[in-house]
Amino acid sequence: MATLLDGRRLAGEIEARLQAVIARHGTQLGRPPGLAVLRVGDDPASGVYVANKEKACARVGITSLGAHLAAGTGAEEVLAAVRRLNADPCCDGILLQLPLPAGLAEGPLLMAIDPAKDADGLHTLNLGHLLKGEPGPRSCTPAGVMALLARHGVALAGLRAVVVGRSILVGQPMALMLQAADATVTVAHSRTTDLAALTRQADVLVVAAGRPRMIGAEHVKPGAVVVDVGIHRTESGLCGDVRFEEVEPIASAISPVPGGVGPMTVTMLLVNTVVAWCRRAGLDHGLGDLVPYRGLDGPWAGQDPGVRVEGG
Ligand code: NDP
Repeated sequence: MATLLDGRRLAGEIEARLQAVIARHGTQLGRPPGLAVLRVGDDPASGVYVANKEKACARVGITSLGAHLAAGTGAEEVLAAVRRLNADPCCDGILLQLPLPAGLAEGPLLMAIDPAKDADGLHTLNLGHLLKGEPGPRSCTPAGVMALLARHGVALAGLRAVVVGRSILVGQPMALMLQAADATVTVAHSRTTDLAALTRQADVLVVAAGRPRMIGAEHVKPGAVVVDVGIHRTESGLCGDVRFEEVEPIASAISPVPGGVGPMTVTMLLVNTVVAWCRRAGLDHGLGDLVPYRGLDGPWAGQDPGVRVEGG
């Protein structure tokens, strides 16, 4: 029987660490960390995600500073909201909830976020920091997967990892993080031929294709670690990209949907915010193991030399 990569439990453990960091530094800093989730329009799924993020903030003691702008809001007005949050000394993290209403281009708005407050780790500068192994906020979902693997003792060095999906949100940063942890990484996408032959070579298989239940037993090497990033609402409930009931008996470890990667994504948003809060004041956060990067002179080890991310 496979070990369950239990994201809900790990998220709870990390939340307790965040509460402790906030309690330790809160008096000295005179204010709690602040996270602004900026929502534009009325995408119903976004409403649920934003509410979950705000509840998670409340649990650990982060102030929610978000705003909800009407669907017809123009780019200039959204930009002004981003700039206000960039300048707000009580705001440590900013997240622009996607998708935006049709007609609003996300690229320029994401780029307007102060990279030091980029709670989602999606700013081009921070993706560059990831590529170069430099400190900076990390994309939440892949960072959450790395924490989940580390917590369950998956020693990645030398393992063969396959990532299914090459989006900027998940697949690409996931591949970089696994590579920085000394796994040998292959990235598959919709034009990959004979996917099953490729994925069967994986010791660690991360699936982020956005295709409900596409990965079955025929795609998985016995004993592999399988991480299912996909999340889909169906008539019979939530499911992932992996046929859990088929893969679980042959995998050595597997993440469930729900309760696997999803809770970790929200938690890493909180981690990025608390780390930014500490960094702005030059204080130690003790969360370096959760912000993976490969140092310039050593293998990936999760240390944080305290280098501050400069605003752009
Ligand atoms: P995208 O749609 O942006 O990217 C999907 C990727 O999968 C693309 O690179 C695509 O290839 C590839 N792909 C699609 N079909 C196949 C196929 N048949 N074989 C191989 N590769 C394929 O999705 P995201 O990366 O944003 O998200 C992926 C999934 O993860 C979604 O289900 C999303 O809901 C979920 N998600 C979950 C999160 C969580 O917290 N649990 C957070 C973020 C996302 P190509 O590039 O060629 O088109």
